[in-house]
Amino acid sequence: MLTAPNPSPMTYSGTNTYILGSGSDICIIDPGPNDENHYGKLQSLSKVERPCYILVTHSHLDHSESAKRLSEEFSIPVLAHGDPIGARSRFMKEIVGNSEKVGGFEGLDQNFFPDECILGGETITGNGWTLEVLHAPGHLSDHLCFSYKEQEILFSGDLVMGWTSTLISPPDGDVGHYYDSLDKLLNRPEEIYLPGHGGKITSARGYVAKLKQHRLERESQILKILSKGETSSSQIARKVYKELPESIIIAGARNVLAHLINLLERNLVICNYPISSEALFRLSE
Ligand SMILES: [Zn+2]
Repeated sequence: MLTAPNPSPMTYSGTNTYILGSGSDICIIDPGPNDENHYGKLQSLSKVERPCYILVTHSHLDHSESAKRLSEEFSIPVLAHGDPIGARSRFMKEIVGNSEKVGGFEGLDQNFFPDECILGGETITGNGWTLEVLHAPGHLSDHLCFSYKEQEILFSGDLVMGWTSTLISPPDGDVGHYYDSLDKLLNRPEEIYLPGHGGKITSARGYVAKLKQHRLERESQILKILSKGETSSSQIARKVYKELPESIIIAGARNVLAHLINLLERNLVICNYPISSEALFRLSE
């Protein structure tokens, strides 16, 4: 693992780039941002190793930005889902069709196009390693996880990280998808996860169950606030994240909006369109 020097409140200690395998065919997972120092380290791999694939968990700049440059450097393909808009839920497509005010797109790499699209279910192999591709949307609709079969380790990207629960920012972040992805992981054998930011997660399935519980508790908290009357995602975020710094409240408001859209999809709330951080939501009768 190499961690890129891009620490921030959103990326923790920086983006983790994983190098899997050795010798004649190695795979690079999430080459990371276009940072010269980090890129130089990946470039120097060619002195001892021979990379054969670049895999990208999702189209966020801090994961995908240097993929194309590195692929040209080594003449190897970039494999990723790469279609965040196509992978949105039908409901989200309709919502976005009705509203350009929904916001989102933080850090989205709009110029990222993989050489080969992998959508989940594929197997990628090299000398001594096998990766199963899982489509695991929620943080981003094109998000993939990779299961390293020989070791029962999951490369979990930004879906499951140890230092924080993930940002879910609509329209490409989707709480319904997130619940489904967590359930998918709970039904798998891996107990060790290597995330996109922060250190290794052990006893991962217990941790995933806690993450789901945390979101369900957040959902009840939001429903309780709504029971007192009509309110917006930004007003709810001020109540939920009250003691935290402004930057966290802003990110938190995106999570709250994602919950509200999920509640809307489940007909538990109604709202005054267009959907935005200021749109008012109330409980349906
Ligand atoms: Zn991300």
